[in-house]
Amino acid sequence: MSDNEILDLNLICGFFSLLEQQGPGSPAETIKALSFIKGLPADAKIADIGCGTGRQTQTLAENITGDIIAVDVFPGMIGGLNDRVKRLGLENRITGLVASMDNLPFSENEFDLIWSEGAIYNIGFEKGIREWKKYLKPGGFLVVSEATWFRGNRPEAIEKYWIDAGYPEIDTVSVKISQLEQAGYVPVASYNLPESCWLDSYYKPITEFSGQFLTQNNNSDQAKWLIDHLTEEIAYYEKYKEYYGYTFFIGQKVG
Ligand code: SAH
Repeated sequence: MSDNEILDLNLICGFFSLLEQQGPGSPAETIKALSFIKGLPADAKIADIGCGTGRQTQTLAENITGDIIAVDVFPGMIGGLNDRVKRLGLENRITGLVASMDNLPFSENEFDLIWSEGAIYNIGFEKGIREWKKYLKPGGFLVVSEATWFRGNRPEAIEKYWIDAGYPEIDTVSVKISQLEQAGYVPVASYNLPESCWLDSYYKPITEFSGQFLTQNNNSDQAKWLIDHLTEEIAYYEKYKEYYGYTFFIGQKVG
């Protein structure tokens, strides 16, 4: 990786770690996904992978009992998570861990629940669901949200945009469900996130923070590049949102 790429990553992480959430989603949708999970023990062990600054980690801690290990590869994200945990007095429930999702320091059959919102694409959906399965107890649950096509046919412009944006695995909901089945999960539920999770919860704070971010970075080329890139992503979403979005998948490891 070149110095420029490292700088880009630091800049991107610096931008996003100052936001409440780093992907589309909302507390209401996290709670809805939780409603499909039955029979979690009171002392459940939960992993939240690619937790960012912990928007959904907080919702999990507030709505189920048990202990949560929240993992992110970027120390800045875990810094933001730790600030949140301290602010809420949840130190005895949530532990932040800097680690990569493709090399997790977990044991086999360790968790009752593995959660991951808007992050599994970093390892790849199929690879992630297969690799993480060993960390789940038999009968344990996997909950992930992932970018999907909502329709069988899409305009070429939006297909090209998402694949070039680093989402080569974006696919239809039915393909992802079949991948879950093939990987040894019972598909329990799936549902698409509403537009508000993108426009209000995710993109609005990005737009509001952009001006301040550019000023803080003296309008550097890299900062401008990041804001231009995000502005373009938002414009694509507004134009093509009927064709794609995020879907929650809830699966149960075959016992
Ligand atoms: N779940 C949060 C963050 C989603 S953004 C939310 O929905 O708000 C994706 C997150 O995955 C980022 O915080 C990013 O730092 C993290 N990430 C990227 N690559 C990773 C990897 N290899 N291992 C662990 N986390 C990773």
